[in-house]
Amino acid sequence: MKNLKPKPGSSKPAVRIGYGFDSHEFRPGIPLRIGGVALAHDKGLGGHSDGDVLLHGITDALLGAVAAPDIGALFPPSDPRWKGADSVIFLREALKRVRVAGYKVANIDASLILTAPKIGPHAAAIRVRVAELLGVHRDCVGLKAKTPEGLNLDHAAVAHVAVLLERVRGRKK
Ligand code: MG
Repeated sequence: MKNLKPKPGSSKPAVRIGYGFDSHEFRPGIPLRIGGVALAHDKGLGGHSDGDVLLHGITDALLGAVAAPDIGALFPPSDPRWKGADSVIFLREALKRVRVAGYKVANIDASLILTAPKIGPHAAAIRVRVAELLGVHRDCVGLKAKTPEGLNLDHAAVAHVAVLLERVRGRKK
């Protein structure tokens, strides 16, 4: 019988981390979506897709964790297919790559930096939606919102995201 024991140093790491960053500029009169949730506001985030800064940050964190090409390489703004696209599409592709690599999401932690709207009243809904998209419990989705004190960034929203992946046990090659 074939020896299935991996050679030293050849097995996949039990956990992998990923980090994502994104920023988008506010523009008047367009819808605002953050973390897959529509928020009532007089401005939205501009961009080729729906401008969901948090989902973009999460997508890049997931892709980075499995050393896949980043969101801009997979979904270039020059491609008309992604004009106005729902960013959930990008996130699902990243999750697929995580799965194919033999991993699943353990938890994520995100910081959102923006002046308005206040995220506090919407934080629970965003965490629930992101948890649903990632297939994890809401307790595995950390979300902090900060105002950009001293950064002169009132015109933009920024997201920083860290993700931890864990190896799926017993997965066949
Ligand atoms: Mg983006």
